[in-house]
Amino acid sequence: MSPVPVEPPVTETAEPFWEATRARRLLLQWCTDCERPVFYPREVCPVCHGSALEWRPASGLGTVYAVTVEHHPQHPAMAEIAPYPVALVDLHEGVRMLTRIVGSADPEVGMAVSVTWEALTDGRNLPLFEPAKEI
Ligand code: ZN
Repeated sequence: MSPVPVEPPVTETAEPFWEATRARRLLLQWCTDCERPVFYPREVCPVCHGSALEWRPASGLGTVYAVTVEHHPQHPAMAEIAPYPVALVDLHEGVRMLTRIVGSADPEVGMAVSVTWEALTDGRNLPLFEPAKEI
């Protein structure tokens, strides 16, 4: 049995993001003033300071920008699965997410990845990334 993962809190701003994960759908905020994606979820666009933000589906596809292997996580539940790769993933939409990589013990910078999901205890799912499947 896998350990209970660390459950991220739901803020009011990020609630649509987390609700979508119940259906394993990855959403990103977009600023409709400057047409840029926004991540993490915010009230105001970090580029143009506009507040016209809307949620749109994301491709779930990205590329590993940087990666490290976590050997000694502080959280006990995470210590059970250590060591595990932690990466910055650039989504094709143009935002960077800090995430865990599964399905590869030794992912490399530049590797193509796609979103996968880990169930949380409350029905939400945590987006993780795995090596992209060949099409
Ligand atoms: Zn903007």
